[in-house]
Amino acid sequence: MFDAGEKTHPDEAGMNHLSRSRPDASQLASRTPSVSMFRLDRLLTLHFFQRVLNGARSPSEASIPILMYHSISDDPEPGIPGYYRVSTSPSRFREQMHWLKEQGYDAVGIPEALRRLEAQAPDAARSVVLTFDDGFHDFLRQAWPVMQDYGHTATVFLPTAFIGAIRKSFKGRECLTWSEVRDLHRNGVSFASHTVTHPRLYGLEWTDIQRELLDSRARIEDEVQAPVIYFAYPYAYPQEDREFVHRFEQELLNQGYRAAVTSVIGCAGFRSNPLRLERLPVNDGDDEQFFKAKLAGAYDWMADAQAVVRRMKASFHSIRPAYA
Ligand SMILES: [Zn+2]
Repeated sequence: MFDAGEKTHPDEAGMNHLSRSRPDASQLASRTPSVSMFRLDRLLTLHFFQRVLNGARSPSEASIPILMYHSISDDPEPGIPGYYRVSTSPSRFREQMHWLKEQGYDAVGIPEALRRLEAQAPDAARSVVLTFDDGFHDFLRQAWPVMQDYGHTATVFLPTAFIGAIRKSFKGRECLTWSEVRDLHRNGVSFASHTVTHPRLYGLEWTDIQRELLDSRARIEDEVQAPVIYFAYPYAYPQEDREFVHRFEQELLNQGYRAAVTSVIGCAGFRSNPLRLERLPVNDGDDEQFFKAKLAGAYDWMADAQAVVRRMKASFHSIRPAYA
């Protein structure tokens, strides 16, 4: 269940670049319907790790949850196990925005979050960053009006090939148009890169990776007439391949980026590398108890579970070829 990469919908928590021959989400769900609906991560978070955290967390360790949303819609995603779902219903989303406000969270942009973390600022403890991957149109229709009600700001990561003058779709969901992007930008939404074509970067030649980084950034800058220096890594982040990670971070810097978010689970902390910031995946299954536990850091244990699964998989599969 820690491997979210078995699915075909645009989630970023996956790992299936290491397991291309494995079954897709529909096959998996049809095989294990009862097990898939059981949220072991929720059970352990609420009934074990939250209690451990309550007794052990150091208040001096500043950390900021960077929430990872995709679609804000009523899509029930039939057959997709709860952990893998990428939709948050509009009603659930409004609740979550309310809980943030109620808990005193200040939704800030990535630069302000990084500043507060670096400074170990007292207000880091009640800061949150709201990110939306894939540039879906429902951000405009369902998310942004609610966020404005609560005074929250957002960062939207665009796969630029799917944003057009005329509306396009990505994996079955309608995307924003450039005109809408420009309007949202004028109203305070930050836009950043999520590549051009949303590929599995880990399997590409470095020249193709460079093009994905450079062209997406240039296109967004051209459209919104503002610098783009943040990036969201599509699909699973290959954290176990240190050589790739090191080279990729260099490429990010070379192409003008200053920070990047990933699918590695956790709150971003004082010690986090700004070029591979952790995030917390959120979907419709995040009710009040689970959502607040995640904000408090009680879900961060999933990063270790992710890493263990990835190392086990890496030992059984051939890793990325050594491209020049
Ligand atoms: Zn994505």
